[in-house]
Amino acid sequence: MSEPTLAQVDPEIASLIAKEERRQLDSIRLIASENYASRAVQEAAGSALNNKYSEGYPGKRYYQGQEYVDKVETLAIERIKKLFGVEHVNVQPYSGSPANLAVHYAFLRPGDKTVGLGLPAGGHLTHGWKVSITGDYFEAHQYGVRENDHRLDMDQVARLAREHKPKLMWCGTTAYPRHVDYAKFAEIANEVGAILVADIAHVSGLIAGKAHPSPVGLAPIVTSTTHKTLRGPRGGMILCDAKYAKEIDKAVFPGLQGGPHNSGIAALAVAAHEALQPSFETYARNVVTNAKAMAETLMSRGIDLVTGGTDTHLILADLTSKNVAGKPAAIALEKAGIVCNYNSVPFDKRKPFDPSGIRLGTPAVTSRGMGPDEMKRIGGWIADVVEAPTDEKVIARVRGELLAMCQQFPAPGLERR
Ligand SMILES: *Cc1c(COP(=O)(O)O)cnc(C)c1O
Repeated sequence: MSEPTLAQVDPEIASLIAKEERRQLDSIRLIASENYASRAVQEAAGSALNNKYSEGYPGKRYYQGQEYVDKVETLAIERIKKLFGVEHVNVQPYSGSPANLAVHYAFLRPGDKTVGLGLPAGGHLTHGWKVSITGDYFEAHQYGVRENDHRLDMDQVARLAREHKPKLMWCGTTAYPRHVDYAKFAEIANEVGAILVADIAHVSGLIAGKAHPSPVGLAPIVTSTTHKTLRGPRGGMILCDAKYAKEIDKAVFPGLQGGPHNSGIAALAVAAHEALQPSFETYARNVVTNAKAMAETLMSRGIDLVTGGTDTHLILADLTSKNVAGKPAAIALEKAGIVCNYNSVPFDKRKPFDPSGIRLGTPAVTSRGMGPDEMKRIGGWIADVVEAPTDEKVIARVRGELLAMCQQFPAPGLERR
């Protein structure tokens, strides 16, 4: 007798997974950090590698039985090195946040100084925001964006760096629609003797696909998630110059973590293999083209965009002029089948849990093969709902039109059942 399936063992969870798959097929997913991982990536992520313990690194493990796991991790490392052109890679961080904590642990003691982008200006919690361990255990100084154009305030970055002489300087964003001037950051970091860390969590897939500038060669340490634009499994990684390899590896294990998640590392190797194909460059380019097309449509409908557009996969819309806050807009959009997140805009007059904006991104819809025509239609639907967030008729019409569109675009890794 064969082993029972998930549906037989645990119908409750099986049914919830099936419903979630259906939700991902039948909605327009615009959360900028989300994507669809391929079937191949998901197969590796759900494999028997899950069963293996392998504390340590390839060739230097603390348990026996590493013949295949060592090869898997080595392949992941070699592929990521090739993809980003870096000297050293650690693929063991469990996710983006632990990767960033490991970098702190590699170079700082409690109370040491950092400079990073503040959360309200589009930075990540782990760049020193006060509710995060990175802001609580270290002396983090936070820069922001300029009031006039909402671009990163590089004068403030230089001021904070000169005044505080931080050991680490962080650049990289989570809700900022423009390129980061990595060269300028490197110049400032070099001037004050700080180690520059570029966190490319959101844009690593765009960088891999050559649709976005790379910080490699400018920032000696680069951290990333693996599940956003890169379309891999949930996970994190640290890329660095060879001279920092020892400190980084020691900080990840044994400093911060125990056994690596081998199934995730195998899935990352698969994602890197996919990203090394020429088709991934097309994907990355299309993500940006799509974001620009959607941005144009939104602006043509009178929706204000932070910085007036985008260079990336991400759009930050300020809904103030439409007389609706971000949260009720996001809730109405979800009812219509468009899933995004409410988000603070720079210098937001509203509270963080009830802010003025929504954040939109095109990585997932582009993975489904949607293009500029679809982006224009989606942008139009967003404007329709934002202009009438309580109008059930509008929501029902958008929902209907959108379902018809979803039927035409299969989603990687998912089958209609
Ligand atoms: C998403 C993100 C992270 C954190 O990744 P998790 O996997 O959610 O821990 C870190 N930095 C930036 C810039 C991000 O956007």
